[in-house]
Amino acid sequence: MRRDALPTTVPFLDLRGAVGAHKAQMMAAFERVLDSGWYVMGRELQCFEAAWASYCGASHAVGVANGLDALILALEAVGVQPGDEVIVPANTYIATWLAVSHLGAVPVPVEPDPATCNIDVTRIERAITPRTRALLPVHLYGQAADLVPIIDIACRHGLAVVEDAAQAHGACYRGERIGAHGDAVAWSFYPGKNLGALGDGGAVTTHRDDVADRIRVARNYGSRVKYHNEVMGRNSRLDELQAALLMARLPALDSENAARAAIAERYLDELDGLGRHGLTLPLVPAYASPVWHLFVVRHPQRNKLAQALAERGVGTVIHYPVPPHLQPAYAHLGLKAGALPFSERLHEQVLSLPIGPAQTPLQTEFVIDALRSVLPTL
Ligand SMILES: *Cc1c(COP(=O)(O)O)cnc(C)c1O
Repeated sequence: MRRDALPTTVPFLDLRGAVGAHKAQMMAAFERVLDSGWYVMGRELQCFEAAWASYCGASHAVGVANGLDALILALEAVGVQPGDEVIVPANTYIATWLAVSHLGAVPVPVEPDPATCNIDVTRIERAITPRTRALLPVHLYGQAADLVPIIDIACRHGLAVVEDAAQAHGACYRGERIGAHGDAVAWSFYPGKNLGALGDGGAVTTHRDDVADRIRVARNYGSRVKYHNEVMGRNSRLDELQAALLMARLPALDSENAARAAIAERYLDELDGLGRHGLTLPLVPAYASPVWHLFVVRHPQRNKLAQALAERGVGTVIHYPVPPHLQPAYAHLGLKAGALPFSERLHEQVLSLPIGPAQTPLQTEFVIDALRSVLPTL
């Protein structure tokens, strides 16, 4: 669509538009990889790993197959073992919990701070037991969790900190990019993330040489030298093509994040008066500079609001409709409805508005106008 065309609908995310902006660079990357005759564990991966580590201010980046594997490999590398407990946010995408479970460890949920939706740091210490091995905060929706108190608690109790940064490429905490605060930071390059491949991809960044080394070996069959296997590793590699495509998109990450921030600013300014109609806007604490992977509002009549917006042509998504502890996958934990009330209320009320690097100012205005006319009628 032309940037000045009047919209009649606004998609939740225009992924084709976001990716299409990089078509020339991505086609060049594709051709380079195609012609190289080398498709797994080569120069493209090395090049992207160096660039991503440097972007994050980390000593190392290790490319892996996806975000879930990044979390699993990071937890394993900091020493999480079967039977250990890992403290996770109650309010997150289920991948955070699954990574813990796939290692035979137990996710121990902690309620969110209702203001930020991220883990409530004042509730973490109560959840620590002699079996706790690690804290796994999530920088949800693209906004950093409060890392200083989290790392402080970890230090006092001798725990590791692994961060789930799958939604927060380029986000800052107290003015510094996330990616090297905790012992290991897990990234996803799923297509819809702020930095996305054309398929699955992931990485772990870290300031620890030993953690990076363990993951480098574990992602490739436990092998440092071909056909010599030190540990029972996995096959979880970021292939050359995805690494090259990510490298083609990386230079634009900051400007794309700025485009998201401009949309978020408008939403925050222009929807400010709608609190009297039950709308709660996201809160940005002083320590955080979010990258707005999602712009999540809350409303007591969330489903009605989503329906009314859909009728006006505005696409929205619920992140997430069912909290991990109420999924059939986690029935065995025995956490019934009411066990984590803050998280459950969030899941009933959250709604993600359209946002993305290809969204035009007129589209943003269209969303704002739709909210202004729909909210008083609910
Ligand atoms: C996307 C996501 C993941 C998983 O990433 P995949 O690459 O899809 O495996 C993990 N945690 C969070 C918070 C995510 O949003």
